[in-house]
Amino acid sequence: AYLDEISAKEKDIGAYLTVTEEGALSTAAQVDKKRTQGEKLPPLAGVPMGIKDNICVRGVRTTCASRMLENFVPPYDAHVVERLAEHDYVLLGKTNLDEFAMGSSTENSFFQPTHNPRDLSRVPGGSSGGSAAAVAAGEAAYALGSDTGGSIRQPAAFCGVVGMKPTYGAVSRYGLVAFASSFDQIGPLTRDVRDNALVLSAIAGYDRRDSTSVDRAGGDFLSGIEAGVQGKKIALPREYFGEGIDPQVALAIEGAARRFAGLGAQVEEVSMESLPHALPAYYILSSAEASSNLARFDGVKYGFRAKGCRGVEELYLRSRSEGFGREVKRRIMLGSFVLSAGYYDAYYKKAQQVRTLIVEDFKRVFRGYDFILGPVAPTTAYRMGEKTRDPLSMYLGDVYTVPVNIAGLPALSLPCGANEDGLPIGMQLIGPAFSEGMLYQAGYAFE
Ligand code: GLN
Repeated sequence: AYLDEISAKEKDIGAYLTVTEEGALSTAAQVDKKRTQGEKLPPLAGVPMGIKDNICVRGVRTTCASRMLENFVPPYDAHVVERLAEHDYVLLGKTNLDEFAMGSSTENSFFQPTHNPRDLSRVPGGSSGGSAAAVAAGEAAYALGSDTGGSIRQPAAFCGVVGMKPTYGAVSRYGLVAFASSFDQIGPLTRDVRDNALVLSAIAGYDRRDSTSVDRAGGDFLSGIEAGVQGKKIALPREYFGEGIDPQVALAIEGAARRFAGLGAQVEEVSMESLPHALPAYYILSSAEASSNLARFDGVKYGFRAKGCRGVEELYLRSRSEGFGREVKRRIMLGSFVLSAGYYDAYYKKAQQVRTLIVEDFKRVFRGYDFILGPVAPTTAYRMGEKTRDPLSMYLGDVYTVPVNIAGLPALSLPCGANEDGLPIGMQLIGPAFSEGMLYQAGYAFE
């Protein structure tokens, strides 16, 4: 049935870069055989899903939506894929993204843009736009994405689905192609909060192959999900309603705050003065890390190789010039610049100091409150092409999502209404490290 949806809708939506039809049918048949033989199956067994194309699946082309990896077939599975295999998952295919997960609209894909299923003239958000669109269009029961600065939460908000960016270290990054290693996390995009808790329960947990993986991260996030928000203290940071926010988005968040109050929570306004510095700090630090991580794509070991080069220098130069797209090159240049000897103190070091201030600011708020409520993005889904010529205006859309990655915190993005054109509006619930269980409880109570 999902494959039928895919063949009916893909020409309009473009959520997938690769559809693994044969594999899906044969694993589904195997799972069904186990079922008819009376074997006890895990809850996700046989459920068809999609995986963002920067997460490695053995034997399946993994492109990062880049010409650089157009023909790359990984010889190993990411940790999350191994975990899902233990749950008898069924892979429908690999979903579209902004090249190397750099972007907020999925228009930076080398192969194709993805359209928002709620309005085909609009972007699905990004960079996990293919995953969000697939779930919203019924082309997958759930999907995995990655979130370095909002790439799960913002597309979830634009497409009206639920997305979780887990605590840094909760889900292994083994097999996720690195963008900015100290920010990247894998997480689920689903139709509702329960599904999300179910998928995170399957993929979270310790993995020794990721040196930042945390031992206490696993768990069953479904049990106790009905606990509600009675007596919980919720902070509403003033800085989340600054200039640039669409008034309809602000109204929907205020409505959500009242709804939580009605459910027995206590909502109070707070101030977090470090937040306005998060966006510049994010773009400095994430680009610095990206410039280092992407040094591995040199045309020698794997990936795209320019033809007819004389000498290794020309091979590096032309392979990278021809293999990477504009946005990726912009990040590499920006990152190399802020790390260079003459500018390191002024930019990279300063941004690291800001990072500490932001971490401390969140800690201070969580001493008095259980979680934070805020918008995911300042606007709803915009029209395709609207921001492609102005990268800075695209970056500004990340202003509410990046603080969470800077501080390594978990955040749940879920729908909280629609604007007058019927476009979904998303809110996010941000908690202290390893509070995913509580965030799911709050989200479930709200839903
Ligand atoms: N939009 C942000 C960026 O372009 C976040 C991307 C992400 O989370 N992968 O960097």
